[in-house]
Amino acid sequence: MATGNINVSVENIFPLIKKFLYSDHEIFLRELVSNATDATLKLKHLANIGEAKVDYGNPQIEIKIDGEGKKLHVIDQGIGMTAEEVKKYINEVAFSGAEEFLDKYKDKVEDAGIIGHFGLGFYSAFMVADKVEIITKSFKDEPAAHWTCDGSPEYTLDAHDKTDRGTEIILHIAEDEQEFLDEARIRELLVKYNKFMPIPIKFGTREETNKVGEGDDAKEETVTVDNIINNPNPAWTKQPSELEEEDYKNFYRELYPTQFEEPLFNIHLNVDYPFNLTGILYFPKLTNDLSMQRDRIQLYQNQVFVTDNVEGIVPEFLTMLRGVIDSPDIPLNVSRSYLQADGAVKKISSYITRKVADKLNSLFKNNREDFESKWNDIKIVIEYGMLSEEKFFEKADKFALYPTVDNTYFTFEELQEKIKETQTDKDDKLVILYASNTQEQHAYIEAAKDKGYEVLLLDSPIVSHLIQKLEASKENISFARVDADHIDNLIKKDDEQISKLSDEEKDSLKTVLEETVPKDKFSVQLEAMSSDASPFMITQPEFMRRMKEMQQTGGSGMFGNFPEMYNLVVNTNHELVGQILNTKTKKKQERLIKQSLDLARLSQGLLKGEELTSFIKRSYDMIK
Ligand code: ADP
Repeated sequence: MATGNINVSVENIFPLIKKFLYSDHEIFLRELVSNATDATLKLKHLANIGEAKVDYGNPQIEIKIDGEGKKLHVIDQGIGMTAEEVKKYINEVAFSGAEEFLDKYKDKVEDAGIIGHFGLGFYSAFMVADKVEIITKSFKDEPAAHWTCDGSPEYTLDAHDKTDRGTEIILHIAEDEQEFLDEARIRELLVKYNKFMPIPIKFGTREETNKVGEGDDAKEETVTVDNIINNPNPAWTKQPSELEEEDYKNFYRELYPTQFEEPLFNIHLNVDYPFNLTGILYFPKLTNDLSMQRDRIQLYQNQVFVTDNVEGIVPEFLTMLRGVIDSPDIPLNVSRSYLQADGAVKKISSYITRKVADKLNSLFKNNREDFESKWNDIKIVIEYGMLSEEKFFEKADKFALYPTVDNTYFTFEELQEKIKETQTDKDDKLVILYASNTQEQHAYIEAAKDKGYEVLLLDSPIVSHLIQKLEASKENISFARVDADHIDNLIKKDDEQISKLSDEEKDSLKTVLEETVPKDKFSVQLEAMSSDASPFMITQPEFMRRMKEMQQTGGSGMFGNFPEMYNLVVNTNHELVGQILNTKTKKKQERLIKQSLDLARLSQGLLKGEELTSFIKRSYDMIK
């Protein structure tokens, strides 16, 4: 039997390991299963190239709990190690690796980013075990070795009578880590980290009912089979050409067993230069509640689960998607801020953005009808992307859709073409009319449609930001909500209305109105409109309303708090307005103004509470 000292300089390594990994003891299992997987894949490779004369067969990795002995076993049928290799890889190499690691990160204990996102490999076993054994038999024709270490720098190494190839790691679980002897806990960890690892992982057995025999003789028979935890060949590791639509859907269900809603479409990522990345992203149906839907993309490194926080790797607007990204090139043992500055990661992020844009473009081109039908469910991601990533904006400009209130979908270019003759203002700028709520703005929408104008329905929560962005990046256009001003003031008309009132009459009308209409809420404007347009109309200037909206959805606060100010637009050509002017009794005049104002407020949804109650009462009194 050989005994030895692992390395004097790392005397304190075990307490350090415990301290560093304090928050994440559970990753030891991921590390050991990863080692077992690597050992198996190495053997496969050597067998393939003829360097190992072995029957590779169908190797498994087995996890076994020995409750009585308080031990956890991780067993593989991989390449194994000779005694010499144990000395080299376990005693020397692994330790120097760990030492180097600790040296590098000693000062960063507080940086939560690193904890849990690196592998200390084999030695992470000491986070949960106070004694670890390795029993290993190499594929080479050499006797098996048995290594034990109780967490002090001393180890023992002697021969063992194990005859089958592979490695068994035995963890003597520490007193305060007994949760790792619990079957449900181990299953949970295996599912979390190893669900898609490439070698089958056996954990216990399960009963399976099979039908045996034919026809009348058929019987049901219960057999005990290995319980395999993982799917060694997940969809993202295959070529897109091998997969049908149904396979993608099935994989989505495998990833999110509790999601009932099917994804709208998927994007298969597959690149090997200048970095390695595979994965499948799904567009789920999205609602307007953005906060609900993040953190569903899972990050893997060679089929080992790493995290479901992909912030920094995937552009923020795509964190609303779901699916899997797998890349050996994403550095894992670093903090998030480092990650964001990493060149490879930046490339990955822009690759993903480009792929998503290309996929959307091809969906739009190949089946526009289908794309239109999905628009409502995907627009929030696209609009958000257009706002936050310039590159994406350029691409999305070709397929982003602008639906009208009557469900016609235009691209921006088509829209411009459609309205270029009819909707320009006095400076010859195109005026794009839109509504944000077809119910609340019904009267205004109808008025605009009557004039033959197109009215878009833009109702996502970030639309004011998007509009701002479009106005800044396109020439000669401006957006106006249908209730931003009277339509005739927004759009240049050839047949300009002439006021029926003289200047003197207008002055006295204005004075009369301003005596009754509260000054702090409304600024009175007289307009000569057609006689069948509304007599009183409340509008809110586009600029004011938009700034307010942007403030609410996280824009800049540089304008301070906006007062609730509206325009009261009075149509001087309307019969009722003439009547108001010519009414001799002050009291009657006041009543007409008040009632008209309230009707205008009512149609904008601005009449509420006590004022609404008294308006209703007054109206009843009037008609009785
Ligand atoms: P890493 O896996 O990052 O190299 P580890 O500390 O996990 O670091 O392992 C050190 C070395 O020990 C491995 O590189 C490998 O050569 C060897 N090893 C660990 N586990 C096994 C195993 N189950 N079978 C064969 N070799 C192993």
